[in-house]
Amino acid sequence: MSERQSYHMTPEELQRHGQEALAWLARYQERVEELPVLSRVEPGAIRALLPPSAPEEPEPFAALLADLERIILPGITHWQSPSFFAYFPANTSGPAILGELLIAGLGVQGMLWATSPACTELETHVLDWLVELLGLPAAFRSDASGGGVIQDSASSAALCALLAARDRATGWETNRAGLAGQAPLVAYASPETHSSVEKAAVIAGLGREGLRLIETDANHALRPDRLAAAIAADRAAGRLPCFVCATVGTTSSNAVDPLRAIGEIARREGLWLHVDGAMAGTAAICPELRHLQDGLELADSYCFNPHKWMFTSLDCDAFWVADRAALVRTLSVLPEYLRNRATESGAVIDYRDWQVPLGRRFRALKLWFVLRWYGAEGLRHHVRRHVALAQEVARRVAASELFELAAPAPLNLVCFRPRHGDAFGERLLERLNASGELYLTHTRLDGRFTLRFMVGQSQTEARHVERAWQQIEAEAAALAAELAAGEGAPR
Ligand SMILES: *Cc1c(COP(=O)(O)O)cnc(C)c1O
Repeated sequence: MSERQSYHMTPEELQRHGQEALAWLARYQERVEELPVLSRVEPGAIRALLPPSAPEEPEPFAALLADLERIILPGITHWQSPSFFAYFPANTSGPAILGELLIAGLGVQGMLWATSPACTELETHVLDWLVELLGLPAAFRSDASGGGVIQDSASSAALCALLAARDRATGWETNRAGLAGQAPLVAYASPETHSSVEKAAVIAGLGREGLRLIETDANHALRPDRLAAAIAADRAAGRLPCFVCATVGTTSSNAVDPLRAIGEIARREGLWLHVDGAMAGTAAICPELRHLQDGLELADSYCFNPHKWMFTSLDCDAFWVADRAALVRTLSVLPEYLRNRATESGAVIDYRDWQVPLGRRFRALKLWFVLRWYGAEGLRHHVRRHVALAQEVARRVAASELFELAAPAPLNLVCFRPRHGDAFGERLLERLNASGELYLTHTRLDGRFTLRFMVGQSQTEARHVERAWQQIEAEAAALAAELAAGEGAPR
């Protein structure tokens, strides 16, 4: 009946089980290519395999790993499969995985400089590195007026930007007294802007109606002339324009908004310009692709997600502001229990004032590992390969009798549609994904069902893209033949 002294895992056990877990992961990487990309389980199937209550007795680590294999793996959609061509990628890599492990082991909570100086200083430093590596405006550097911070997501970055924009536009009255008594605030974006900006408008108190969606051109990019007209109309109606979001590489079609023209309007009108390059931002590691961010020096804030295309595991969004004082003024709080000498000296950054939550993970460590393991040279190599492979797909689509391009493909996303129409496209996508051989998703462009072929998974190589394209063509040809024969007509 004697009670155990401790239930903790000892360092010796950590080493042994850690090796087992890493061995499982290495084996996973070796076989992920053979697993069905899109999970095939039915709703509730995973929960049905789990016991109704948490265990009363401790269990051995081997049982945990066994159930990872037996219960969890079938319910995984393999984002790390080289045949994952869906959405945008959520890449990981060896250095990111090991960085993540060490982050967990150090278990740092980096809310203040003082709660782990290295956590803050490494973050400031690698984000300065990225300003140089990506050719971003010098104002974003921490030794200029700006600075960078790692957020959990592009959604959080957009929210922080909008909150600062709102407060700046009202002379920080909204920061003090809230929205009451203010003219209705208005933000602008295009219908192709990521939904996180709509969510930010709701949270920031502008409401969904406070976000004006500006018409796009034939390439799905925001029209500056329409933006200027909307701002003028809102001012005439007594509203207060405060924020515009432009996107480099929209989620739907990788459209690129004209930053310079939008930025000039924002400057003239005193609006905060936030630029969202969540996926495409990584491309700027290649000088020949930087033209996509022309005009970025007019932005008040910018973000991209190393956790999408820069091989740094979720979560990691890099967010910069040109004027850090504006962001900090909006988000800073200083209760007595957080007071400390370093903060009061004014000589340090306390990143809790740059984000919504207080607590923060040591994400800079994994980003640092990735940047050092690959080097700029390695990152460029893989980005160029992905872009070249996608461009090859775009050429195949353009030359195909069954398909047509639905939008320009500036980088690594190809949007295309079958000439047989929407129902055909939906049926085709269902069949392709049911095969387990690949995973594609869709969007709607110009009101029409559109397939998206995204090339950006860390391990994707020419043979995966080649095989996927052959399968798409073969499946489409089979479907077209069925259609011609009058059977299996699309629903
Ligand atoms: C993916 C994406 C987002 C959202 O990213 P999170 O980090 O998941 O919030 C925002 N904007 C664009 C353009 C995206 O592609």
